Amino acid sequence: MKIQLLLSCLLISTAVFGQNKTAIICGNLIDGKSNVIISDKVIFIEDEKITAIGTQSQINDSHEVIDLSEYTVFPGLIDVHVHPLIYGDDYQTDHLKGTSAFNALRGLKVVQNWLNEGWTAVRVAGDADVQYAHLEIRDAINEGVFDGPRIYGAGHYLSVTGGGGDINFISPEQEVIADGLVVDGKEEIQKAVREEIKNGSDWIKILVTGAFMSAGDNPQNVQFSDEEIRATVEEANRRGVPVMAHAHATEGINKSIRFGARSIEHGTFLNDESIALFLEYDAYLIPTIYLGEYMLQEYAKSEAQAKSYQLTKKYRDGYLKMYAKAVKKGVKIGVGSDNVGFPANFAKNEFAELVKLGMTPMQAIQAGTRVNAELLQKEDEIGSIAPGLYADIVATKGNPLNDITELLRVKFVMKGGKVIKQEE
Ligand SMILES: [Zn+2]
Repeated sequence: MKIQLLLSCLLISTAVFGQNKTAIICGNLIDGKSNVIISDKVIFIEDEKITAIGTQSQINDSHEVIDLSEYTVFPGLIDVHVHPLIYGDDYQTDHLKGTSAFNALRGLKVVQNWLNEGWTAVRVAGDADVQYAHLEIRDAINEGVFDGPRIYGAGHYLSVTGGGGDINFISPEQEVIADGLVVDGKEEIQKAVREEIKNGSDWIKILVTGAFMSAGDNPQNVQFSDEEIRATVEEANRRGVPVMAHAHATEGINKSIRFGARSIEHGTFLNDESIALFLEYDAYLIPTIYLGEYMLQEYAKSEAQAKSYQLTKKYRDGYLKMYAKAVKKGVKIGVGSDNVGFPANFAKNEFAELVKLGMTPMQAIQAGTRVNAELLQKEDEIGSIAPGLYADIVATKGNPLNDITELLRVKFVMKGGKVIKQEE
């Protein structure tokens, strides 16, 4: 009650005292849409939104001026595959150690760190909480109680019994709540999808195949039946909610696209037919590339991640070649990191990986801004710097088109017209 009262006071004071006007002087501007860099422009902002892209002669006394004339300015970054509540390499039981409230507190700090690095929006690929802590973090951010990125996504990931979202290493005598939402058969899927949406999910996430990081299942198996995958998409789409399908196995990728999944997560064993299907169905590939590199660097000795480490070592060269082919053929590819509580800058490395696959630095930046916004069907709100969109803006000192790793050193972050970070 108190919070609501406070919020309505804030709303009244904004109405009485008028709008906040800001002008950002940009050295270089990458707007997310144009394929060339634009010089000597000014972004005009009123409250949360961009009103115009103009020149310095249009600045007047009503504007608060932010001088980024020595910087390269671009749209806020979007990571479309994150798990803010998952922590540690034994993540499948970690969620059982703290209450949902604890997970929310820890997850809030995680997403705030991401925002501070320039990620102004994220899509959660399902999370491991018994309740919906991450969606409540989203709601609190949206109410203005805390700073944080825009959060979209799924409550949980749907898994079959014994699948990538089930706990397959605990005695059957113990009743534990798995990290995923375990569902079998059409009826259970329908109920789960309805509950997910009722509780605030704006995406449905399904683990169509086994996973790399979960114990006791095989990523090369398709785990859901055709009927079950279809039921998931139909039930979600009936409510206007899209489906993101985790799929490693070739058949899992191809079936998910055919049955209407909007994005394929990982897509590890994609083949030429998959590439053709991506193009035919206008589906998005979120390859989460850097995760494999990180696994090889950091997880050689991890017992919980031994399976993932071995699979990555064995298959990485092969799937990188196929991802490169997908880039060349024009498959829509977005930036998604699979960030599960890794260091705050972990996800930025995804841009360099896309450049290694053959994207230009401009295409890689667009993948992590406008293309991701289109995947989210939020391109009229975020992902570009243009009038009418939220003022979600970041800047680097050097030009990331010359060196994509400049993105690791974001110096300025604004979300919805509010400055979150401003460093020399
Ligand atoms: Zn994931």
